[in-house]
Amino acid sequence: MTYGDPPGERYLGDKTAWDGETLVVTGDELLTVLDRPYLSASTAKAMHSCPARLVADRALPGTFDLFGPAEKGTAAHLVLERLFALPPASRDALHAAAILTAMSKDEPADESVVDYARALGTDPVRYTQWIAAITRAYEGLFAIEDPADVVVNGTELMLNGVEVGGVPFKGVLDRVDETPDGLRIVDYKTGKDRSRPNPRFGDDHGDQIKLYAAAMQAALGEKPRSGFLYYVEHGKKRRVAVADRQITKAVRGFQGSWEALQESLSNRTFETRTSPLCGWCPLVNACPAAAREGMTDRRGGAPTLIELGIPTLRPALAARRAAHLPTDDTPDPEDTMSKTTPWREAKPYEGAQVDGHLSLNAYAATAVFGLTTLAAEQLHASGQKIGPATLRLVTGVLATIVLDAQEAVTHGSRDWQEGANTRLRGALRTSLDLIPMPFGGDHDAWSEWGKRTRNFLVAVATTAIDLYDAGPAVDIDALVVATGGAGSDAAQSAA
Ligand code: SF4
Repeated sequence: MTYGDPPGERYLGDKTAWDGETLVVTGDELLTVLDRPYLSASTAKAMHSCPARLVADRALPGTFDLFGPAEKGTAAHLVLERLFALPPASRDALHAAAILTAMSKDEPADESVVDYARALGTDPVRYTQWIAAITRAYEGLFAIEDPADVVVNGTELMLNGVEVGGVPFKGVLDRVDETPDGLRIVDYKTGKDRSRPNPRFGDDHGDQIKLYAAAMQAALGEKPRSGFLYYVEHGKKRRVAVADRQITKAVRGFQGSWEALQESLSNRTFETRTSPLCGWCPLVNACPAAAREGMTDRRGGAPTLIELGIPTLRPALAARRAAHLPTDDTPDPEDTMSKTTPWREAKPYEGAQVDGHLSLNAYAATAVFGLTTLAAEQLHASGQKIGPATLRLVTGVLATIVLDAQEAVTHGSRDWQEGANTRLRGALRTSLDLIPMPFGGDHDAWSEWGKRTRNFLVAVATTAIDLYDAGPAVDIDALVVATGGAGSDAAQSAA
């Protein structure tokens, strides 16, 4: 989808307004559109990512673009759905090509199917380009598996009217296979290869499979034995763990999104949550939170501030906020009010800050408190005096090492909220046992220690992630050589 056209349809001034950095839904019709009697995995993810963007995505009409990523994905999914409806011996690249050609000519059976013949028109160049683009979007499937070997239980399986964690769920499973071990869920993904997910951006694809597994159990009374993501444009697949523990975690996040959505609907307010994805948000040119963070349109063609026309409630307040001046509703740090006003409780996933200060329920709070107490433990174990200055200095060193390692592992993130930060702080405890802090040492000793500790954390993280991605590998000969065992070069030169 591209952004709505013509520009007149980009106007949101009659249904939304900004109140500070929160988007208020002022139009009843839009509120009804947002208030669905079920939650899908993608809406749950959208609520978790940025609730205000969810409003924008529902409010701004998308226009059909035959070559857009979503439209290409829909066409590729349709080819694969029809391919797996054929007898096993016919599920090959030739039949897939024939299905695609037929799609480009056929009149759709009903309105739910795109009229590709009409959308393509009579331009032969456009036709050839489209055939090539859709073929590219699905043909990686043949590198992942031989479709003739697959025992299909069902395709496009609609799960509706079931509850996941007490939340009404809706979703469509691309394919369910029968295997000797039991049922297997397969979800096709077109677009970017995310077979190795970046922890910086969470794992919404993996969570989706886990939610499907939970929904399938609720609907059919049978839990799948495995779940797979097929990145059919790239010929890559990824197995997603569907053990009860992993599913429970995903379901908890799903419940949290549902509760947050219900709360937003009841008070009509949808928070903004900035992230690198702001660059692809249709509100980026009008969003006060994005402006504060200096985010700009990375996709191109986002509606302008004028086109969106979203008014600002309490403009004087907004202006004072923008100028970083004290406002009536924000505590003056010099004022005792901040000591007497109770801190509002927020959920851990609601972000690092609430009302302008650190949310003490946030994962970030767990991180900074944990590092500070770890610093105190280290000082105590080394017989050092624990004072505010030494505590601050040692905490600073530990925190910098964790954040540097996190940045290396996640390709750029230093966010306290993220799982990578939690995992690396866990590894830091082991590192401190193996490579103790050089209390009493000089500047060089501390620098060397810092470097070794950071490298250790990165090594642990990359080994652990590789273990998950590639599975365990046993090579006894390599192990003997690496650990200087009998017969190795190291053992012989020692002899
Ligand atoms: S620009 Fe960013 S913070 Fe603002 S609404 Fe969009 S995604 Fe949310």
